[in-house]
Amino acid sequence: MATVTEIKLASKDSRLISYPEHITGVNDVSIHIIRILQSTLELEKLLELFNDELSNVVSHDYLLYQNQQELIKFSFGKSSIHSLNYRFKLCGNDLGTLTISRTTKILDEEVDRIETLLSAIIYPLRNALLYKQALEKAYVDPLTGVSNRAAFDQAMQQEFELAKRHGHHLSIMMLDIDNFKLVNDNYGHMIGDMVLKSFARSLTDRMRKSDAIFRYGGEEFILMLRNTELSGATLLAERMRKKIEEEEMKFDSVKLGVTTSIGVAQLEEIDDDFTRLLHRADRRLYEAKESGRNMVISESNN
Ligand code: GH3
Ligand code: MG
Ligand code: MG
Repeated sequence: MATVTEIKLASKDSRLISYPEHITGVNDVSIHIIRILQSTLELEKLLELFNDELSNVVSHDYLLYQNQQELIKFSFGKSSIHSLNYRFKLCGNDLGTLTISRTTKILDEEVDRIETLLSAIIYPLRNALLYKQALEKAYVDPLTGVSNRAAFDQAMQQEFELAKRHGHHLSIMMLDIDNFKLVNDNYGHMIGDMVLKSFARSLTDRMRKSDAIFRYGGEEFILMLRNTELSGATLLAERMRKKIEEEEMKFDSVKLGVTTSIGVAQLEEIDDDFTRLLHRADRRLYEAKESGRNMVISESNN
């Protein structure tokens, strides 16, 4: 039967898990383990190191870490019949749960050893979670909630390599709201911000799961379309352009609409690179602006 034990370090003096006196050299062991666990801020690496250290102390078949708040789940090995479940809490903050299991019964003295190790992972775990949150924040645009330009640069590099290696299609759509300066001038900056949010939401609602959206700059967005040829990307761009044109945005008593110009480009099979692809989409977008706005121009048009 699985039981859940809470491991709390609410303050320096109130830890529920204490180092068992009867295990000789436990402090040395703990110091050694703490040093190892503090060597990384990467959550997955931390759990891997912890799993290795745990194997040295107690044989086990399975380790599962879950954090529902952060949508994290890491497991090592194969789940088995006898299990121990722990919930990590630090100063009232939920840091997730850990399950350890194996085919044979886990003895009391082994539980002691496991819990000694568990108390060593709490602070490194908290640090790794904070680090993960900070990294994620650094890649999100706070106004619209979509990924930002830094995220785009990173994702694009990765997608580019993957598409090249596996011969997949990759297209990008560069969108810029038309005459957005007028929105700010006519309705104020706050309404301008709301329009940006609403615009980003409209695009997100019409994307496939495999597409990714980025706020590239002020009122400029990029959609990255995996496994999509230029023809498909152009169709999608036209559908989005039309939808934006037809959409009426309402903010209290203010009603307004915007249009968008879109440039579309696809990754070429030979001799292409990420900067060139971006540049081509940007050029098409520029042409769309020059040709009167509220239109899609893709490489296939030329
Ligand atoms: P075009 O059709 O040629 O793209 O014209 P435009 O007016 O959209 O382009 P322009 O580059 O002249 O102006 C962009 C405006 O977007 C100016 C800038 O103040 C506004 N802007 C950029 N970021 C934000 C933001 O975060 N919030 C608000 N409210 N406005 C922003
Ligand atoms: Mg604009
Ligand atoms: Mg612009």
